[in-house]
Amino acid sequence: MSYYDYIIVGSGIAGLYTALLAKEQGSVLVITKGSIDDCNTKHAQGGIAAAIGRNDSPKLHFKDTIVAGDGLCDEEAVRILVNEAPARIAELVNLGVPFDTLDGEIALTLEAAHSVPRILHAGGDATGEHIEVTLSKRVRASKIQVLEDSQATEILVENGIVRGIKALDCHTGSVEEFECHCLILATGGAGQLYKFNTNSDIATGDGIALAFKVGAEIIDMEFFQFHPTALHLPGVTPFLISEAVRGEGGILRNVDGHRFMPDYTPRGDLAPRDIVARSILNEMKKTGSDRVFIDVTHLSPYVITTRFPHIYRFCLDHGLDITKELVPVSPAAHYMMGGIKINSWGETNIAGLFATGEIACTGVHGANRLASNSMLEVVVFSKRIMEKTAKGAKQEAPNAIRGTEVHHVLSQRQIQEPVPAPSLSALQKLHWDKVGVIRNRESLTQAADILAVWQKSLPPPTDRPSCELHNLVLTGRLVTEAALLREESRGAHFRSDFPQSSPKWQRHTIFSTK
Ligand SMILES: Cc1cc2nc3c(=O)[nH]c(=O)nc-3n(C[C@H](O)[C@H](O)[C@H](O)COP(=O)(O)OP(=O)(O)OC[C@H]3O[C@@H](n4cnc5c(N)ncnc54)[C@H](O)[C@@H]3O)c2cc1C
Repeated sequence: MSYYDYIIVGSGIAGLYTALLAKEQGSVLVITKGSIDDCNTKHAQGGIAAAIGRNDSPKLHFKDTIVAGDGLCDEEAVRILVNEAPARIAELVNLGVPFDTLDGEIALTLEAAHSVPRILHAGGDATGEHIEVTLSKRVRASKIQVLEDSQATEILVENGIVRGIKALDCHTGSVEEFECHCLILATGGAGQLYKFNTNSDIATGDGIALAFKVGAEIIDMEFFQFHPTALHLPGVTPFLISEAVRGEGGILRNVDGHRFMPDYTPRGDLAPRDIVARSILNEMKKTGSDRVFIDVTHLSPYVITTRFPHIYRFCLDHGLDITKELVPVSPAAHYMMGGIKINSWGETNIAGLFATGEIACTGVHGANRLASNSMLEVVVFSKRIMEKTAKGAKQEAPNAIRGTEVHHVLSQRQIQEPVPAPSLSALQKLHWDKVGVIRNRESLTQAADILAVWQKSLPPPTDRPSCELHNLVLTGRLVTEAALLREESRGAHFRSDFPQSSPKWQRHTIFSTK
């Protein structure tokens, strides 16, 4: 059996950035279930937030993040995020990420719910791709060992300490064990829970399910962010129309051409994502349509094609010239705010197990992520894992204070009625219909019952798709049961039967097996 100082599962920004830091400390293996660049990271468009502009400050970035998080951010974690951001951005520049510049300085744009322009971007709207390609080239050129098409299927724990990981060779079906000192999960989110989502097909909640099974605490899963504006064209998988499009002046209109966002909030088109997503759904219902539109036809074609070359090209390839025509959009599942609970050094409650990236919940996003804070969170907190685990590191106590946490286990459910057969499409439809942008007790109970039956009745997994379905069912149960518990509306979690937020619920929901 092979032994490594660090095993990192996942090869998005979290896995690769952490691997590049870890190689300075010892031997590193990266396990990834597709090819190295198969991940959500490469689809990120808008950019990465950091208070590096003249009129900006970490204090202002802190304030915007806290407001978006709707009462549930861990203030200490947010302080770390905004204060350490400029240094981490400088390191990304040193690694070779080609951020766009204007007059010799890094160009910054505005996105919804940020009070000043603070989003760095690369290739206009291809930021994630540039970051992923830059990091993967660096990793390939290093001594880091990368095992592609290898899916982690079980965390090995002995006497309460992580010993390594079991992985499935997705080509041959054989299973191998790898041992390590530190296991770092960087497996990303779970957007594939939903019929309409902006995520890559790797986003199946694998790391959440694996960690939960060995006793890790999973926190705040009810907070799943729905992006308000995914391209809505028949036969085309939802493709993100970045927030930055509205940041540059794009206007939301309903099918009758009415500019509706000012009817809902004084922040208009630049309101936080949850408000825009619900307003769009309301307009769709009012007008009997399955979409609304973003209008950028008043912007100069030069601005559109240079700031959003990727979006412009994608739409044109599907017969839509956005410099002349309105862009049809509707909400889609986008980002998992909850995840494996970690402290400010990336540690989980299990010795030797760390998590970083979308899979981890540091507490910086609270109930609603501020746009472009997620890739920043990755680089800030991955660096802290290395500061903690480096040889001779000072063993400082974690400084995150998260507030009240309430612990739960997944309840048994007694179901009499027949349920549909489990499949990826049935699961995605179930989540979209019952655990979507707007939920209530009845819809959530129906979903929770079906998921509980599926969890018991699924045959043991044998290959990547069947492992993923198992992981999605368990992750979906954690989302649904948490959403059922939280009898209020806050941030991205909206309950039609409890439409207000309640001070009683200013607390976190944790699930674990203990
Ligand atoms: C369309 C889109 C646009 C976005 N735009 C922005 C933006 O502008 N700014 C921003 O900050 N954020 C944005 N986000 C969010 C951001 O991209 C992600 O949160 C971030 O990239 C997550 O990085 P990650 O490394 O944690 O996960 P990912 O990049 O998703 O990588 C996860 C990795 O884990 C691997 N993996 C998963 N399960 C297993 C397993 N069982 N075994 C082995 N490997 C496994 C995957 O193959 C993959 O390599 C966007 C997301 C999407 C989908």
